Amino acid sequence: MKLTRRDFLRDSFLLGSSVLLSPIPLHAGEKKEIQWIPAYEKLEAESKLAQRIKQAYALFEHCELCPRKCGVNRRKGEKGFCRAPVKPVIFSYHPHFGEEIPLVGVKGSGTIFFSNCNLRCVFCQNWPIAHEGRGKEVQDEDLADMMIHLQKIGCHNINLVTPTHVMPNILNATRIALKKGLHLPLMYNTSGYERLEILKMLEGIVDIYKPDMKYMDVEKAAKYSAGASDYPEVTKKAIIEMHRQVGVLKLDHQGIALRGVIIRHLVMPNRVAGTEKFVKWVAEVLSKSTYVNIMAQYRVEYRAYDYPEIARGITAQEFLEAMDWAEKYGLTNLDQQSLSLRNFYQHRRSS
Ligand code: SF4
Repeated sequence: MKLTRRDFLRDSFLLGSSVLLSPIPLHAGEKKEIQWIPAYEKLEAESKLAQRIKQAYALFEHCELCPRKCGVNRRKGEKGFCRAPVKPVIFSYHPHFGEEIPLVGVKGSGTIFFSNCNLRCVFCQNWPIAHEGRGKEVQDEDLADMMIHLQKIGCHNINLVTPTHVMPNILNATRIALKKGLHLPLMYNTSGYERLEILKMLEGIVDIYKPDMKYMDVEKAAKYSAGASDYPEVTKKAIIEMHRQVGVLKLDHQGIALRGVIIRHLVMPNRVAGTEKFVKWVAEVLSKSTYVNIMAQYRVEYRAYDYPEIARGITAQEFLEAMDWAEKYGLTNLDQQSLSLRNFYQHRRSS
């Protein structure tokens, strides 16, 4: 059957609302069938969470929270590469319906956008937040209240976007929120540029890790992410650690994510992202059933106009090539929206 542009736009809209294409029936208010306890709740029951927060806060005095290892004393107001203060700066918090279907459900992913970033890519699609640090400085107690609010309005998880430089605040806020009844999966939604030592501190606290894997090539990483030539190696190690902690993605009976890893990979023009190497690595090193979202939405933003190689959107052919590689290396848990888009382009190509 020929798929028209109108069909595609309609399907895209439905994908945005993330309901009708969901693989399982979703009913608001229906009880989860399985007894599930968030990781941080168990750690608190073992009286270990407070100690973890204390250790994390001490890191602010010589900040090495991320691989930039600036060594600044953020408690004294010094700022490192990310320019983040010691308190969290938040741009917005709300239900988000543009995430992967197992995160969105019917009520959305409870997303908190942190300002500032430790990677600062030239093609950043959130540059006013990540590069310019727009947002409001808050207390950890406020952050906890945001988590509780997102839970009250029915969100299915707490989605912490760009959390790396505010990890201690997040831990503290989570414990405060737990005492107020927080009972949602905690998701660490990160660029992937994480230190192993820091990730180990998150073991037993984070339920879902959602790292990017942006590039597989050191030169591309250095060129487009502010000199972070170690990004491919650091991020591969980080994802292996995340996978060790929480494993492949597990869903409840309604198809909502409870625990596990989701990897996002943005296809870039001219094979800049190294997609073939990436999917091969996932298949060989992690698991073929790793949830992978191969994304087509690259757009020219921020300073990407200054780099000819990435100063255009991707073609349908580039996206199809990426999906073909995922298939070739045997990945079995690809994001539904990527698969729908692949089907659309294939229909268009054959019609
Ligand atoms: S979190 Fe910020 S200040 Fe700390 S090491 Fe990373 S870039 Fe530097």
